Amino acid sequence: MTSKKLQFYNTLARKKETFSPIRKDKVRMYTCGPTVYDYAHIGNLRAYVFADILQKTLEYGGYKVKRVMNITDIGHLSSDADSGEDKMTKGLLREKKKLTLKNMRELAEFYTKKFKKDLEKLNVKIPKEIYFASDYVKEDTELVQKLEKKEYTYKTSDGIYFNTSKMPDYGILWGGKREWKKEGARIVENSEKKNPEDFALWKFNSQIGFESPWGKGFPGWHIECSAMGIKFLGEQFDIHTGGIDHIPIHHTNEIAQSECATGKKPFVRVWMHNNFLDINNGEKMAKSGDSFITLRTITEKGISPIVYRFWLLMGHYRTKMNFNWEALEGAETALKRLYGLYMSLGEKIGKVDKEYQEKFKEFVFDDLDTPRALSLLWDVLKDEKISNANKKATILDFDKVLGLDFANLKEEKISEAILKLVEEREEVRKNKDFKKSDELRKKINSLGYEIEDKNSGYKINKI
Ligand code: AMP
Ligand code: ZN
Repeated sequence: MTSKKLQFYNTLARKKETFSPIRKDKVRMYTCGPTVYDYAHIGNLRAYVFADILQKTLEYGGYKVKRVMNITDIGHLSSDADSGEDKMTKGLLREKKKLTLKNMRELAEFYTKKFKKDLEKLNVKIPKEIYFASDYVKEDTELVQKLEKKEYTYKTSDGIYFNTSKMPDYGILWGGKREWKKEGARIVENSEKKNPEDFALWKFNSQIGFESPWGKGFPGWHIECSAMGIKFLGEQFDIHTGGIDHIPIHHTNEIAQSECATGKKPFVRVWMHNNFLDINNGEKMAKSGDSFITLRTITEKGISPIVYRFWLLMGHYRTKMNFNWEALEGAETALKRLYGLYMSLGEKIGKVDKEYQEKFKEFVFDDLDTPRALSLLWDVLKDEKISNANKKATILDFDKVLGLDFANLKEEKISEAILKLVEEREEVRKNKDFKKSDELRKKINSLGYEIEDKNSGYKINKI
């Protein structure tokens, strides 16, 4: 275990705090997974790159991490506050499939596979424990029954609701004020609700759904995460992650249900949230229209997914980022330059430079300050006082957290076309045709290579 302390910004405390897990050396962490009715957009993927950096930082700090992620394959309505269309139903209609539970599951499995592929491409360590919400409906109903016994619930014509007025500190994650709804998240009024913040624990559905003590239907989206969190990580655990949009409703309600059902506070010690990825200066990324950019949109432009990861790390996870192609291309140039510098260090891998390692820890342990960690990476490469071999070892060490794939860089194979041009240039040079030789050199340069003339011949370098 490292002697350096980790500091994380805890949304619940509204400040940075020194991290200490409930059980020594073992961190229990839950990540809200995607709603799998469509491909993930790159905004969604920001949430998982952030959680990955967090897991890797904890591991770098010497902790074992037990990480759980759910897949929301039922119960998420288009508004987080229990109104609007069911997202999975929307997915089935879009794909012209019959509305059955079997089809819903198939749709979920298809998009989950795609989601995992995206994570792999982004060098995100896929959590070992990923669970479909639809496999844990029994746990959901048991939790609702517990709440029912303790008289936190009531019935309306469309479902079983949680009565938030029974919980004195409801909304603590958001600031503990009951007025928050007026400024923040939009709650669509439901005249049968006792309080505007009350939320569905179970929603009736006569057409399609699961059996329950209250009739056929679906669990509420929030109860799924409480039930799975408690089942796999216990009634109290260390870290819960998600995007900031989850603060006012989803995570607020997770806290309410879990704490009222178990009687234990806090449900989670540290709540961590990534800020949003916007597009076109302030437009929210959505799963429809021009702003729906997936990882595939990026790779189709010939840009590697790791460039997207690198670009995200150039910003702090708590800062809003604005996506545009120029910025991504800028990141691509910078990453290529980093790779080039790394490749020029030779074959040998030496020892990790302790001074740089301490600095790296200082940065990533300070609430995952990846922008400063990246600038340190440049410093290592430019530092003339340390050997190439030690530079390599140090960068590979940093990359355990950053995940930029330095270990897998390979010398790029020089294409036949370039080799032919080089040979042709050698030939004309021998015949002292310097004009032609110069022309060929320029052509080679324009293709991204340069020739270094040596006594013994020549060397081809990438520019
Ligand atoms: P969903 O699939 O809607 O359940 O969202 C999956 C994750 O992506 C959640 O943690 C959201 O908070 C997060 N998220 C959604 N949109 C964005 C965005 N534009 N930028 C960053 N995170 C987002
Ligand atoms: Zn969740």
